[in-house]
Amino acid sequence: MLAEQTRRVYDHTVSAPPFGLIGGGMVVAAIELSRGSVSLLWWWGMLALATYARFAHARWVVRRGAWDRDTRGLVRRFALGTAVEGLMWGVSFVLIADQSDVWTQAFMLSAMAGIAVAHLASLAPVRMLYPISVASMFSPVVCALLLRGDLNGVTLASILALLLFNLLTTSLRCHEATRSELALHFERERSHRELEVAHARIERLSLTDALTSVANRRRFEEQLAKEWARAQREERPLALAMVDIDMFKPLNDAAGHLAGDACLRRVAHRLREVVQRPGDLVARYGGEEFAVLLADTETDGAMVVGEQIRNAIEDLGIEHPHPSCNSPVTVSVGVASLRPGQTPDGPSRLIDAADRALYLAKNRGRNRVEATHETGPLRRAS
Ligand code: GH3
Ligand code: MG
Ligand code: MG
Repeated sequence: MLAEQTRRVYDHTVSAPPFGLIGGGMVVAAIELSRGSVSLLWWWGMLALATYARFAHARWVVRRGAWDRDTRGLVRRFALGTAVEGLMWGVSFVLIADQSDVWTQAFMLSAMAGIAVAHLASLAPVRMLYPISVASMFSPVVCALLLRGDLNGVTLASILALLLFNLLTTSLRCHEATRSELALHFERERSHRELEVAHARIERLSLTDALTSVANRRRFEEQLAKEWARAQREERPLALAMVDIDMFKPLNDAAGHLAGDACLRRVAHRLREVVQRPGDLVARYGGEEFAVLLADTETDGAMVVGEQIRNAIEDLGIEHPHPSCNSPVTVSVGVASLRPGQTPDGPSRLIDAADRALYLAKNRGRNRVEATHETGPLRRAS
């Protein structure tokens, strides 16, 4: 929080008008005109130099922008600049206005009070800056007035003390208001970040199959629609491989559902290892059936991938516990490739074709890969 508070005071120095310099110019002009000389220009020149040095330093700090690095050092340097500028006013009053008449003194004090008020909001973000500013500006003045010991001096010093007390309490209230505003700002930012993380997590979960951690049916359908549209635009082929575990029901019956779940996880994991090309997608289509989407792939290429899948699952060597089934666990694969640009139908045409191929693979003895270009009403493999 201190970093943000510090950023605010430096930002203000760079972007706000130099009240001190303007006030100084007014005082010099007023005194010089009443005296008819130009002897105080040196003082205004020094004020201009100090103001410019502070501005240049602040601009450098703002451009660097590393508010978290040495924040306390930045605050210390700012406080030093504030104290020097304040002292220039305070000491000048003692040196310049002391010799002037009471109206000139009152005018110079009004200018200083105006500058003190103008600094209130800009210095309030960092707690000690405002007290440093008014203390360095007015303590030489109050001391000088009191030391004079006359009624005018004591009256002016008392009025000043009252004004300063008021300004200091107001600056504390401003400081507290800035702090609560910043606390609220940080809290809002934190909740926003947490919400974004939670949102991304929910989004990820809503597109992932809970059992196997591959994409779920919803994600598959979204991706299929996207790839179908892209293939249509680019006049490229799109292929789909339907992968179905053979004799899975007997496996479940013999070894139990937990063993069945473990088998599904291993098969899904292996499928993801085999299908690695960017743009391809492995999804759980339902039950013990997986869909593998292969972008920009002709039937021959899809057959090759289908064969790699079939081999990889067989090589896993998952034992099939049912006495009537051959070990290890195998899959049947049905592949189809279409050019979406050449058909008026939607993506379900591709699912239908791959499904027909899977039906063929099952009918021709399982543990094999079949392809088809046939189309027609959807008929599911058993
Ligand atoms: P085929 O060789 O013809 O594919 O026969 P199959 O036994 O593999 O196919 P079938 O459609 O007869 O059986 C699929 C089984 O998959 C039935 C169902 O209990 C099981 N199954 C579906 N989802 C899950 C699941 O999430 N976990 C487990 N353990 N089993 C599941
Ligand atoms: Mg099956
Ligand atoms: Mg099935």
